[in-house]
Amino acid sequence: MPKPFYITTPLYYVNDKPHIGHAYTNILCDTFSRFHRFIGDKVFFLTGTDEHGEKIDKTAKQKGMETQAFVDGMVPRFKELWKILDIHSDGFIRTTDLFHKKAVQEILQKLYDSGDIYAGSYKGLYCTPCESFWTSSQLAGGKCPDCKREVQEITEENYFFRLSKYQDWLIHYIQEHPDFVRPAMRKNEILGFLKAPLEDLCISRPRARLSWGINIPFAPNHVVYVWFDALSNYISAIGYPGKMNEFQELWPADLHMVGKDILRQHTVYWPIMLKALGLEMPKTVFAHGWWTMEGAKVSKSTGNVVDPAELAQKYGRDTLRYFLLREVNLGMDGAYSEELLVARFNRDLANDLGNLVLRSTSMLERYFGGKIQIASAKNSELRQQAFRSRDGMISAMKNLDPRSALSSIWELITRANRYVEETKPWILAKENKMEELATVLTELLEAVRYTGILLAPFLPEASSKICSSFAVLNPGAKDLETWGALTPSTTIAKGAALFPRSS
Ligand SMILES: [Zn+2]
Repeated sequence: MPKPFYITTPLYYVNDKPHIGHAYTNILCDTFSRFHRFIGDKVFFLTGTDEHGEKIDKTAKQKGMETQAFVDGMVPRFKELWKILDIHSDGFIRTTDLFHKKAVQEILQKLYDSGDIYAGSYKGLYCTPCESFWTSSQLAGGKCPDCKREVQEITEENYFFRLSKYQDWLIHYIQEHPDFVRPAMRKNEILGFLKAPLEDLCISRPRARLSWGINIPFAPNHVVYVWFDALSNYISAIGYPGKMNEFQELWPADLHMVGKDILRQHTVYWPIMLKALGLEMPKTVFAHGWWTMEGAKVSKSTGNVVDPAELAQKYGRDTLRYFLLREVNLGMDGAYSEELLVARFNRDLANDLGNLVLRSTSMLERYFGGKIQIASAKNSELRQQAFRSRDGMISAMKNLDPRSALSSIWELITRANRYVEETKPWILAKENKMEELATVLTELLEAVRYTGILLAPFLPEASSKICSSFAVLNPGAKDLETWGALTPSTTIAKGAALFPRSS
């Protein structure tokens, strides 16, 4: 039996409420999960929250709260957003979960025992808000290259993970596995980074400076670096190392979806951690781009926060999903503005899709009381377009390209709308050409049915409304094998407007 498709989001850092960047990653992963279920795969979709580290500890203290109470209060905000956006994950991990902390400690101990973690002294330039050490050559104008704040020189006893030992192996692995780091520009970026000698990674933080973290079993005065903790979730959540049978059913991950800002952690630290543990590599780490507003990344730190829950409530969650999936090629940055979202809504959803469904079902009701009169033609042009759209959608999704997948589906929608203009059913009705009219409407409604099925991974709400008027339950690729499911006697209820214009 084939292994379930295992897909992950990064763990979201809970120092503030979720924004559209979080929504984007989860919508992508939810869409790929739905797609894999659609084609008959089993799926395990994991998301969760990253709750340790200095920034969270500080934020909690600034609010006068216990850190645990603070993170406990933040996590529901993420879970609520996933509910609002119709995101269905199979697992939700918190890095404060006891099983996760135990797993991280076992991982640390294993790597310490094998010599891949060692004690040393660290002297470096440290940026506290970013929790990052920098070399002097990495600084930008003497300041932290990430946040442009002042750095401090500190020396401390710490523990290091031997990245350097695995550098050559990693370079070869990335070169020999073209699907491992995607898109290709990110693979090139990381290979470029690996041209310089890789320094061992400091994976501990002295308790004196930071107590909010997972204890290191062999170093009572230290807690573990948040990234080492957070990355481990991809294996701890599915049973490593305590439940190896369960773990082996899912590992390796098929797809780690990440933002391009955390590429290095996922394509350098993480594969080396796995290699050092003797575990298989994930099949693909895919780095998506950022949503920008007037050129700046949408995030808390730049202050230009777009609330995805508000957008979903205002325009419908399918609209937000559609916009994010359709507006840019996966991997590229996208410009976000409410005007662009409204334009997509009006043109693609309300006009193209919404009108097609509404006018087809209305005509069937008006002319034939909602009853199909005649079976589908065997080899029509709409049928050919439907099969092309199906094949295009499936191969685009397998190639991690939801934008092309949607444009394949829209080719069918556009063709069906043109079919209405070409056949002019209202004239056939006026001229009393009832048999021809019946044939036209059967073809058209078959195209609507087919479209409703095709949309299932992308627009769950609209798809389920369309499918339910055709009595299609749990739509999947199996339902796309044939054209001509509509037979005389099928009754199709006139659908309500799928995308009513709010103004
Ligand atoms: Zn910084």
